[in-house]
Amino acid sequence: MFRETVTHAGGSTEGTASEAHALMLLRRAARRGYAIEATRDGGALITWIRRELRGGTAHRSISLTPQMPVGKLTEALTGDLHAIRDLRPARYVLNDVGRRIILAGLAEISPLATAALRARQLVTAAERGTVRLTLTARLGLLAAEHRTTTTEPEGWSRPADLGMHGVTAGLNRPGRRAGMLNRTASAATCSCGQLRAFGGDRAEARRLARDHRHDMAAAFVEALPADFTTAVTA
Ligand SMILES: [Zn+2]
Repeated sequence: MFRETVTHAGGSTEGTASEAHALMLLRRAARRGYAIEATRDGGALITWIRRELRGGTAHRSISLTPQMPVGKLTEALTGDLHAIRDLRPARYVLNDVGRRIILAGLAEISPLATAALRARQLVTAAERGTVRLTLTARLGLLAAEHRTTTTEPEGWSRPADLGMHGVTAGLNRPGRRAGMLNRTASAATCSCGQLRAFGGDRAEARRLARDHRHDMAAAFVEALPADFTTAVTA
């Protein structure tokens, strides 16, 4: 379950959203090309700009905050979550001393780790005794996989310090200091390794980083199986 906050002309409205409803909102947002951003706690922020009939635009958003945040994703926990996500089928079985474990492909998740995954609502029972990750777990993993950073621009420097001997730094142009170059460029990178971009300044680098996160979130939503939320109350 998520807490859903919708902003509109009259302010904002809060409510609760089931996993199926949250998924519907995400799919609709992806279809309409709205920006989607996954949050580390396993939620999502959907933002878009609406054109008003009388002219002008208005910013709108829907935020989905999980009632139980994902919490810290340790390496071991992340490994278990990847196994359940990627090694099919994942299902509950009893081990030889009768304790419940998750079997994902050939990987066994210990009784203690299985209990923790259930208690933290990172997994849920699905069809025919299978186990799947919750939408919250999936969103938390997505946010953890795409941690973007931008570099601090180097600022004012002398051309000679940058190895640019014989270069005059546009002494008479507005916005320059005598003999100095303003190196405003900022690099944007992502922990996934797929983003290596330069912005003319840090604000542009931040936009590049944000666009990357939005692209990855849209691709994530589109790649979720159609029957993702078909859950069985077991
Ligand atoms: Zn990334």
